[in-house]
Amino acid sequence: MKANRMLISTLKENPQDAKIASHILLLRAGMIKPEVAGIYNFLPLGLRVLNKIEKIVKEEMDKAGCIEILCSALQPKELWVESGRWEKYGPELMRLKDRHDREFCLGPTHEEVFTSMAKDLIKSAKALPINIYQIQTKYRDEFRPRFGLMRSREFIMKDAYSFDKDTQGLEASYQNMYDTYSKIFTRLNLHFQPVLADTGNIGGNGSHQFMALSDVGESEIVYCDECGYAADVEKATTKLDNYKGMEEKPYSKIHTPNAGTIEELQEFLKMDPKNMTKTLVYHDYMNEKFVIAMVRGDRELNVIKLVNALNSNENYLRLATDEELLNLGFVKGFTSPIGHDKDFEVYVDYEVELMDGFLTGANEKDYHFLNVKYGRDFKGIVCDLKTATEGDFCPVCGKPMKQERGIEVGQIFKLGTKYSEPMNCTYVDLDGKNKPMVMGCYGIGITRVMQSIVEQYHDEFGIKWPINVAPYEVVIVPINIKDEAQMNLAEEIYNRLLEEGIEVVFDDRDARCGFKFKDWELIGIPYTIVSGKNAAQGILELKDRNTLEKIEIGKEELINKLIKDIMNAR
Ligand code: ATP
Ligand code: MG
Repeated sequence: MKANRMLISTLKENPQDAKIASHILLLRAGMIKPEVAGIYNFLPLGLRVLNKIEKIVKEEMDKAGCIEILCSALQPKELWVESGRWEKYGPELMRLKDRHDREFCLGPTHEEVFTSMAKDLIKSAKALPINIYQIQTKYRDEFRPRFGLMRSREFIMKDAYSFDKDTQGLEASYQNMYDTYSKIFTRLNLHFQPVLADTGNIGGNGSHQFMALSDVGESEIVYCDECGYAADVEKATTKLDNYKGMEEKPYSKIHTPNAGTIEELQEFLKMDPKNMTKTLVYHDYMNEKFVIAMVRGDRELNVIKLVNALNSNENYLRLATDEELLNLGFVKGFTSPIGHDKDFEVYVDYEVELMDGFLTGANEKDYHFLNVKYGRDFKGIVCDLKTATEGDFCPVCGKPMKQERGIEVGQIFKLGTKYSEPMNCTYVDLDGKNKPMVMGCYGIGITRVMQSIVEQYHDEFGIKWPINVAPYEVVIVPINIKDEAQMNLAEEIYNRLLEEGIEVVFDDRDARCGFKFKDWELIGIPYTIVSGKNAAQGILELKDRNTLEKIEIGKEELINKLIKDIMNAR
C-alpha cells in the first residue's frame, strides 16, 4: 500500500478529552475518530486491526465447534417483555419507536433474539448441543461513556449462546468456552486473568470474567497466590476475620459533636473504625422502597452485592438524598438501624453480625450509640455486603489475598433456563417430553480488546502492535524520495515483500524522513525498513518497533529475516 493513498491522519497534540494512554494513542495514531460522546468511527488503520482481532476470535470459535450467524441490532420490544427485561434492563437500553409507534431497542446483548431463534429453529434433542455466535454491533446508553473504546455507547461484541439438553451439557459447553477464551486472549497477546464474576444484567448462576491486567482497568480483582482463587471484587467473598468489636454490654448514648463521618469519629473518639459500622440508606427505585445497609466501619459497601440481595438493578439503586433522609426521619451522619428496623429492611453484612458490640449513629444530631449488637438491639437480613480488598483472607484456603486492576475483555455465563423457560424455548426429549433448553452465553468486547492491547503495548513514542494484530507488518521509508538508488531499492523490497504475502506500506509521501519515522512509531508498525545512504550497495536499515533496535542489513538477508519472523508471529 502506498502511504499517499492511505488517509493517514496522525495528530501531533494530545486530544483534550482523552485521559488514558490507549485512548490518546488510538486517536493520535488516526485509528479511530470520535463522532459524539461514546461513538467512534474506525479509520483505515484501525479497521485493519479490528479485522485481525475478529479473525483470530472467529478462528478459535470455529475450532471450538461454534457456528456463526449475524443478527440485526434492532430488536422488538415484545421479545424483551417476554424475558422480563424491558423494564429491568434500565436506562442503558436504547429504546426507539418506528413510524407506526411500534417499540424497539438497539440490542445491548442478544439473549432474547438467540433464545427466540433456537425456539423456532430447534425442535429435537438431536440438534443439541449447539453453540451459535456472531460478531456484531451493540448499543448501551452508558451513564458515563469514557476512555474511548473501553466504555463506548456503540461497540462490537462477539456474542455466543450455547443450548444444551441438561446442566451437565451446559457444564461441558461452558468449559469449552472457558478454554477457547483462554486461547483467544493468549493469541491476542493479552496478559489476562480469568476471575469469578457477578452475573449483572445478564443473570444466571455462574460466571467468569476475563480481565486484561492494567492499572487503568475499571475492575478490581482480588486473587490468592496460594490456591489460585481469583474474583472480581463485585463477586469476591472472603473468609471472615472473626473480629468481635466492642465488649458485649447494653448500648449507651455518647455525645459526638460534629462527628458524622468515620474519619471524624476516628479523630474525635480515637477509636478504630473496625469498631464502628457504616449505616447507609439506599433508595431502590426498582422495588420502590428505601432500605438500610450496614458494613463495618473499615469497609466499603459493595453496591452490586446489595443489588443482588434486593433483586434490583444497579441503575436503579442510589444512596438516599439529604432530603429523602430528612423526610424518612433519619439524621444524616448519625443514622441508626435502632428504631428503624420495623419500618425498613435492614441488610447487615456478615462481619457486623459477628460483632459483640459496635458504634453506630443514634439517629440524633451529634450523638452515637456505643456497644450496639445486631440481633439484640435490632433485627435484619444478614448477607455478604462488603467489598473484598487486599489482605482479606481467601475464601478457599484462608491465606491473605492480593488486589489488582483489570479491564473486562470478556465474560461467560451459565444462564440455565433463565431465558428458555419464560420464552418457552423447548426441545422434544427422547422420552417425548418438552423440556427447556439449558443455556450459556459468552461475550468478548472486540473493540475494548483492541484498546486493551494498546494499553498493554505502548511506550512514550506510540503504539507497539504485536505482529499478528498490527495494521501492517512492515513499512518502507526511503530517506529521500528524489534519490533514485534509494527509491529503486525501496520499490524492489516492497514488491518482493508483497509477493511473499507480507503486509507492507511504502511511504511515498513528500515529507521529511524524521516526520515519517515519528508517524510510524506512533502508529506502531512492527518493522521499519529505511532505504538511505547505503542503498546503492543494497544495504538497508531495519528498525524493530518493540525493542527500538536498529541494524544495518543486506537486502537478501533482510527479506529472509522478515519472512521468518513474521510467519512465526502470525
Ligand atoms: P461492564 O461491566 O464493563 O459494563 P458488562 O459486564 O456490562 O461490562 P457484558 O454484558 O459482559 O458487559 O458484555 C460482554 C463484553 O462486552 C464485556 O466483557 C466487555 O468486554 C464488552 N463491553 C461491555 N460494555 C461495553 C462498552 N460500553 N464498551 C465497550 N465494550 C463493552
Ligand atoms: Mg460483563
